[in-house]
Amino acid sequence: MTDFKLQGQPKVVEPTIYELSTPGRTGVTFPDPDVPRAQLPDSMLRGRLPLPELSEADVIRHFVKLSTFNYSVDSGFYPLGSCTMKYNPKINEDAARLPGFTRLHPLQPIETTQGALVLMYQLQEWLKEISGFDAVSLQPAAGAHGELTGVLIMRAYHIHRGDDKRTKMLIPDSAHGTNPASSAMSGLQVVQIPSDERGNVGLDALRAACDETTIGMMLTNPNTLGLFDEHVEEISKIVHEAGGLMYGDGANLNALMGIAKMRDLGFDVMHFNLHKTFSTPHGGGGPGSGPVGVTAELADFLPAPIVDIVEEGNEDLPPLFGLVSPAKTIGRVKSFHGHFGVLVRAFTYIAMHGADGLRKVSEYAVLNANYLLARLRDAYTVPYDRTCMHEFVAEGRFADAPGIHALDIAKRLMDYGFHPPTNYFPLIVHEALMIEPTETENKDTLDAFVEAMLKIADEARSAPDLLHAAPQKTPFGRLDEVKAAKELILCCWLPEDYGNQ
Ligand SMILES: *Cc1c(COP(=O)(O)O)cnc(C)c1O
Repeated sequence: MTDFKLQGQPKVVEPTIYELSTPGRTGVTFPDPDVPRAQLPDSMLRGRLPLPELSEADVIRHFVKLSTFNYSVDSGFYPLGSCTMKYNPKINEDAARLPGFTRLHPLQPIETTQGALVLMYQLQEWLKEISGFDAVSLQPAAGAHGELTGVLIMRAYHIHRGDDKRTKMLIPDSAHGTNPASSAMSGLQVVQIPSDERGNVGLDALRAACDETTIGMMLTNPNTLGLFDEHVEEISKIVHEAGGLMYGDGANLNALMGIAKMRDLGFDVMHFNLHKTFSTPHGGGGPGSGPVGVTAELADFLPAPIVDIVEEGNEDLPPLFGLVSPAKTIGRVKSFHGHFGVLVRAFTYIAMHGADGLRKVSEYAVLNANYLLARLRDAYTVPYDRTCMHEFVAEGRFADAPGIHALDIAKRLMDYGFHPPTNYFPLIVHEALMIEPTETENKDTLDAFVEAMLKIADEARSAPDLLHAAPQKTPFGRLDEVKAAKELILCCWLPEDYGNQ
């Protein structure tokens, strides 16, 4: 039995699986085989690996207990702005686990995978309908990946027209960090456009920035302040007149479904975050999906392959669905067909809601956010205070409680049993608290959250130390976030001689 030592981290609440290890204990004892034992090559034997020794029950209890330390959308309210942490209906999971889907291999002949291809085709069609775009690719793995894909499409479009001077992407100062990142990764320069006092894109600054080097603009609408840009049509006119294209960051689509189509607002290309708007699980870096929609003008540049009808049907035969490569495709951005399991979940969500249901989703998402805004705006400063869409941004600071920061409020909320809102984003609001309730929460939950927020605003004046010391009711106290980021140790338990063997 190897000795295990803790490497540089304070002892945490639970013993690790290595501390629980007892020499000689084992999980499973197999019955004697009724065939001769094969001799495994030495290199495959695990005897030298430092594995802990535990019974099956020990292992299950240890990990189930650890899992209860996680906060999740299945355990409580999760108002993490911009992330749309809505409840994920379990029927999505049932659909994604159907053996007819899980047992497919992407290299099977298409005649044997028609069900999956029809599902992908139908999802493309629905996303086209929801957004107003002419073509959709389901390949990108997340929103940021969809951005990269969309920006590469914009670049390919200009270069294909022989216009290779366009190297500048315009991005508002309220944008999500992935927007400048995708532009920079595509070899472009970013020009930041300041917002005006109502939280819209500053039109004068936009006009001044537009010229023959403008590749286009990346705009989130509603933007990350939760506000619908009052000049969105004017913005796209200005950018188009300069020869640029409009990229729509679709992360906030949860406010618009069945109400406004991104294409009608003047966008040429957008990404969808299926894991936000369409209720597929996200967080923890798991698989997401960021399909990209484009106008007919850009359709030829979409990443390959996309699903299409490759043989029309007739009275006796249904059409045959297959994979096609657009004429001037930018190529593949993901192996095989994207994150198929996520596509099944989004398909199920849309099928369950129908067109009217999706519109209600957006209406209730906006209603819930405005309810919270109305109940909190007297206690918290809301710098851009007008009717919000599906989220809003408040300041996590008080003039008469100078020691209190957004971080303290966020941590104290954990003591009241809530996941904190997004904080310190968008960057243009001081001590930002970005609150997005989503449509799946009922009034009782919203009221309980408001009560906690109001209590915290009182405590900020009457008992600031409570906020500074928070959280105290969670398995872990407040971490040193700077140290954690600079000295990330994901695996603090390793045997002393690990790596020397
Ligand atoms: C979440 C988000 C993104 C990035 O999407 P991912 O799926 O997390 O990569 C981009 N823009 C905005 C406004 C977002 O909220």
